[in-house]
Amino acid sequence: MAQEYISLALKNLVIARAGGRCEYCKSPAEFATQSFTIEHILAYSKGGSGVEDNLALACGGCNAHKSDRTEAIDPLDGSTVKLFNPRLDKWNDHFEWSENFSEIIGKTPVGRAMIDTLRMNRSGLKNLRLALVSYRKHPPQQSE
Ligand SMILES: [Zn+2]
Repeated sequence: MAQEYISLALKNLVIARAGGRCEYCKSPAEFATQSFTIEHILAYSKGGSGVEDNLALACGGCNAHKSDRTEAIDPLDGSTVKLFNPRLDKWNDHFEWSENFSEIIGKTPVGRAMIDTLRMNRSGLKNLRLALVSYRKHPPQQSE
């Protein structure tokens, strides 16, 4: 797949803006075994460019499952919805944590469709979240 050059300054801005966490599943890059990606919210192959407003920090898993999708299906009512856009949408409007913080729960069709499509409750992620709770690295603070 074709890529375009994203400057180091822009990469650093995207990482800082995301608080070093995947902007979808919120896992922290500092505890990941695979490197995170600066991803195009609207895929490069679909005309998305490498401007600040089209870039997000994503973990390898979320990025791979998202691929070049622009929409997904809500598993609850079967409706097709646009993907969550971390530049336009607020995470807390669409998602919340389960009581023990191990799972992400979708509050809206967009939230549910994202969790299903990006597999945001992968078993490794759930285990990691539980472990990180004891290190006070999870859940993310409001400012993150
Ligand atoms: Zn992720």
